[in-house]
Amino acid sequence: MVDQKTLEDIPGVGPAIAEKLHEAGYNDMMSIAVASPADLAEKCDIGEKKAADIIEGAKLCADVGGFETGVEILERRKAILKLTTGSKAFDELLGGGFESQAIVELFGEFGSSKTQLCFQLAVNATLPEDQGGLDSDVVIIDTENTFRPERIEQMARYLGADPEETLRRIHVARAFNSQHQILLVDKAMELARDHKVRLLIVDSLTSHFRAEYVGRGTLAERQQVLNRHMHDLLTFATMNNAVIAVTNQVAAKPDAFFGDPTRPIGGHIVGHASTFRIYLRKGKAGKRVARLVDSPNLPEGEAVYTVTEDGIKD
Ligand code: ADP
Ligand code: MG
Repeated sequence: MVDQKTLEDIPGVGPAIAEKLHEAGYNDMMSIAVASPADLAEKCDIGEKKAADIIEGAKLCADVGGFETGVEILERRKAILKLTTGSKAFDELLGGGFESQAIVELFGEFGSSKTQLCFQLAVNATLPEDQGGLDSDVVIIDTENTFRPERIEQMARYLGADPEETLRRIHVARAFNSQHQILLVDKAMELARDHKVRLLIVDSLTSHFRAEYVGRGTLAERQQVLNRHMHDLLTFATMNNAVIAVTNQVAAKPDAFFGDPTRPIGGHIVGHASTFRIYLRKGKAGKRVARLVDSPNLPEGEAVYTVTEDGIKD
């Protein structure tokens, strides 16, 4: 899927520039990834800054990998943006909000507000950066047919944003099965060439996988496909400096096949690829509790928030 890349998969490269690249003899990712900006700029008659961006993009597409110094990584991390949840306590738990260049996994039982949180993130992402937003469009891959534009309108209105304008920036696709879901990440990659997309939501990440891969013999295959899907999502996050939010429903009752009911499906595959894992549950008096389960640089902890008509609040 994402492995079969064409030059137009590089952010900022449309048909016109792709043609120039081909004419100049740059026919694959690797040849661009190892080019010098000055060289590429001259041969393709484009600006040097543009050439440098294309080379960076090609490096990511080509998965060249290799070593980076700590300074380079620090530099890349300086570009990380934080997206507000709408709740101060929740934001503080995450060190300021949902981070870009990362996958955040929201797991919890049915009704624990995973989808509501996704709606709120989608609305917030369209806000200007100084309001905790990402000033960006949003892609939602909806696998359970739970997207509700009316809820987006309510939340936008409360924030003083134009509901219709907000909806216009949210691009929703229904995924009919797991293969379709995977293909939609490629589609999102295409969309991100024309629009700034700094939030991609997959709600739910695992429902199709859970339904389709039934029986013991299919477990290894399911994990492999899911692993690949997570890798594609992480590529999207890095290439677009985007937040990836995925939901994962915890089985409500014990299940011989999926094992421990309090553990999210996808197990360590999803867990390892996610940078942050947040467990959501219902609290007292209609309150909700978010617990940060796994983070490379933040302490574990909990935040209490509420889901209201206006959206997520403290
Ligand atoms: P999940 O995706 O985890 O299964 P949802 O995000 O769909 O759960 O959460 C559903 C809950 O969100 C409902 O039980 C309700 O408490 C709350 N909710 C949904 N819509 C509204 C609303 N308009 N006003 C207040 N609370 C709402
Ligand atoms: Mg849901």
